[in-house]
Amino acid sequence: MLNFKELNIPQIKESILNYGLEKFYNEYFQWLREADKNLKSFLFFTESLVQKLIQNLKKEDINLPLYGIPIAIKDNILVKGERCTAGSKILENYIAPYNATVVDKLIKAGAIIVGKTNLDEFAMGSSTENSAYQLTTNPYDKGRVPGGSSGGSAAAVGGGLVPLSLGSDTGGSIRQPASFCGIYGLKPTYGVVSRYGLIAMASSLDQIGPMANNLNDLILLFEIIKGKDNKDSTSVNFPKEKLKPLTTQKIGLPKEFFDELDSQIKNLIREKIKKLKLEIKEISLKHIKYSLHCYYLLMPAEVSSNLARYDGIRYGKRIKNDNFWQIYKLTRQKFLGEETKRRIIIGTFILSHGYYEAYYLKAQKLRKAIYEDFQRAFKEVDLIIAPTSPTLPFKIGEKTSDPLQMYLSDIFTIPVNLAGLPALNIPIGFIDHLPIGMQIIGNVFDEYKIFELAKLTISSQ
Ligand code: GLN
Repeated sequence: MLNFKELNIPQIKESILNYGLEKFYNEYFQWLREADKNLKSFLFFTESLVQKLIQNLKKEDINLPLYGIPIAIKDNILVKGERCTAGSKILENYIAPYNATVVDKLIKAGAIIVGKTNLDEFAMGSSTENSAYQLTTNPYDKGRVPGGSSGGSAAAVGGGLVPLSLGSDTGGSIRQPASFCGIYGLKPTYGVVSRYGLIAMASSLDQIGPMANNLNDLILLFEIIKGKDNKDSTSVNFPKEKLKPLTTQKIGLPKEFFDELDSQIKNLIREKIKKLKLEIKEISLKHIKYSLHCYYLLMPAEVSSNLARYDGIRYGKRIKNDNFWQIYKLTRQKFLGEETKRRIIIGTFILSHGYYEAYYLKAQKLRKAIYEDFQRAFKEVDLIIAPTSPTLPFKIGEKTSDPLQMYLSDIFTIPVNLAGLPALNIPIGFIDHLPIGMQIIGNVFDEYKIFELAKLTISSQ
């Protein structure tokens, strides 16, 4: 099979074309089923859709940027006519009635959607262990997690099963699994990619983003999915003047991120930074230490309201009963997982009378303070470099019994979502044969600045 880890999209396209699309996909699926038996990165494959997509591609489409390229989609993004489970039993039989905007864009660009990938239930988790269906393993160590919640999408790319995938990131779910699986993953500026057709977790934080084995492929995928969409009123057009950034001169290192970091990870990042030969400035983000508190108030509040629609009446599975309230209660009790219920309960509490002001409003103020910390920092520096994860990819089961330990996995990624900023995970090496990532964080719409610095990081290694 083609080596998706080493080849780039133009090379893959050429090889598939030479081989012939139909012949390639017949052999590819036989191989893919076998290759995913250990990883379990896919919840299911979309073989009949693949046949349709191949047939719809015409000879004159050959110049489309993703002509014939296989791509995996996180199973909280709708693909018309296919199941979309969001990793939950409550949506086990749910068939998507329409395409997410990003999926329409991919198909238009010639991509072939080969399957839907595993995730934590409703994208809530950091290890993909909250999936109601299966455990996905890390491509570098089958005793360890791939990260989460886009663990399936990260493992599929990191394990060389597909060259590209889409994930979603509410508090780190693209960047942390990308770091654990040794790949590139971008959380775009809030609003740059349409959320239409993404099963909502916390709408003010959710963003869809690209995952790939190399930077150029990631940029290509980002360019295809970005842009304003009338079906998502929070989406925006990417400003043209931001496509050609000025070169980065000054990098900020937030001291709060490095103070208590694992020393092996710290050293590896410092080594990379040194080689950049740019001006480095230590910065301080004063409110950053409250990010996790702020996130675990605002996110569950939004989750509790977004997930109210899974009532056994309108969507998905239902426990039959003569009493309406019993249908609602029993269906949610049986088909939602522990972590999901925990967040719904916390969120409902936070939004309830008398607590709204004490918790929700206070957290909103904190969110603004965190945003302002970043804005102050970007007056002094062009970009910020930070670790992606505080730890190496951890063992399966290691953190499942302690939600707080699990929540700490996202301590470096969550502030970026709270402030609506773009951030990229880039793989920077290995510790004990496990991949390590580093985050480049930019101001709003500074994706191309981030890409420039990422290129410099790669070329100076
Ligand atoms: N791990 C974080 C959480 O559990 C972030 C999830 C995400 O980004 N979807 O909420």
